Amino acid sequence: MSDAPTLTKTLLNGVRLNCPSCGAGGIFASYLKRRDACPHCGESFVGLDADDGPAWLTIGIAAHIVVPLLIFLERREWLGYYAEFLVVVVATVAIVLLVLPRSKGFWISILWWNSKPRD
Ligand SMILES: [Zn+2]
Repeated sequence: MSDAPTLTKTLLNGVRLNCPSCGAGGIFASYLKRRDACPHCGESFVGLDADDGPAWLTIGIAAHIVVPLLIFLERREWLGYYAEFLVVVVATVAIVLLVLPRSKGFWISILWWNSKPRD
């Protein structure tokens, strides 16, 4: 299997929402709906169900951005309470919407990598 991707390449393909095997076809048919197979190389994604992993990873990433933002805003007192609340809510929603599909792609890539026999 000399043309097999490395683990790093596989994970980057997943974060880019691309097939962990070839990196050309998309993993998702819509925002978070996984395809059954890669439209480019035909690699099957059946059984690669990420379950709660992407949600936990997204929460961990979003919390490490939003909590320091909240502390920063509270210490500076530039904005009023409601403006701070609005900034934090908008930032949280934006980060989650951005990170969640990439997190799921990352997770599916890990599952794909572990499903393949290694020498
Ligand atoms: Zn593919």
